[in-house]
Amino acid sequence: MRIDNDVKLDFSDVLIRPKRSTLTSRKHVDLERTFTFMHSGRSWTGIPIVAANMDTTGTFEMARALAKHKMITALHKHYSLEELSTFFKDFSNPDYVAYSLGIRDEDFEKLKAVLDAGLGEYFNFLVLDVPNAYLERFILKVKELRALCPKHTIIAGNCVTNEITEEILLRGADIVKVGIGSGSACTTRRMTGVGYPQLSAVIECSDAAHGISDHGTGVGLVMSDGGAVYPCDAAKAFCGGADFLMSGQFFSGFDQSGGDLVEIGGESFKQYYGMSSSAAMKEHYGGVAKHRASEGREVLLPYKGNVHDFVDELFGSLRSTATYIGALKLKEFSKRTTFLLVNNQLNRSLEKYE
Ligand code: 5GP
Repeated sequence: MRIDNDVKLDFSDVLIRPKRSTLTSRKHVDLERTFTFMHSGRSWTGIPIVAANMDTTGTFEMARALAKHKMITALHKHYSLEELSTFFKDFSNPDYVAYSLGIRDEDFEKLKAVLDAGLGEYFNFLVLDVPNAYLERFILKVKELRALCPKHTIIAGNCVTNEITEEILLRGADIVKVGIGSGSACTTRRMTGVGYPQLSAVIECSDAAHGISDHGTGVGLVMSDGGAVYPCDAAKAFCGGADFLMSGQFFSGFDQSGGDLVEIGGESFKQYYGMSSSAAMKEHYGGVAKHRASEGREVLLPYKGNVHDFVDELFGSLRSTATYIGALKLKEFSKRTTFLLVNNQLNRSLEKYE
């Protein structure tokens, strides 16, 4: 047994110190980033915020809405080949949509069918997604996927430490997805005791990733996945070195989100559930298998309306962070950041009156 005595940090453990700024208006802040990916060689420009590949957030409707803002939607992996064909017929924004798969043989067979049907040109991103990227089988699947799709930009994860980040990148991923146990619909920490505070995971993995480059095209990149509760958490992830941010909770509860709309006592709610929850396993696999435990929760969230309003608010908050730290571009966030360790992040005294 060993104890790591370094304190690891969540978004809620820090605030960002303000810095002198020459900005005269928030509207001058550039939230777009341009990356050249180290394996696919593709260039991409957009706002590096991604709707998670969950039933309730990674929907076709979300993709249509977020593409207008140059944001990516990772489609959940349960759409059929027919549904995907119909969707891609009138969605021509391959830079803002990702196809998701796991490491089962069925997942790879379905991807091959999708490619054989000629749909591969309609999405530039692939998400190879497992809860635990520390499995040897996962690392082998990254290599297999890279060989199968040399021109697609591969996002793979999830991990939380530097050595696996490096390995995933060297085996063929362009972007490593970081986060274990931090998701709002996730009960992994409660069930298994395993996890890593999200901000420290992002800081450590991005430091490792940014030190890796293969063909002189670009460096390894990191996508922070899970644990963003408030708009400020997006800023904190970028300040900590994340190149992309994936969120489920941010994109839950809207018209464009999946899940049922439920009326209770005259108020509207929308379903949000983890992809390892009993609800998801029942929906897709007919129940929780005997050797498994559910590691996700299912909740009803107050219905939030149209996602476009939320996107405006999110962009506004990032622009405001930029003016406080003197960053002209999202790209400068991490360079302009000094984090303060705090005992209290927020003044919650009036929250109960909201
Ligand atoms: P959020 O943004 O809601 O905090 O977290 C979203 C992330 O939680 C997803 O992108 C995914 O990585 C993770 N996640 C989604 N469903 C589950 C689940 O059922 N169990 C666990 N452990 N993680 C989940």
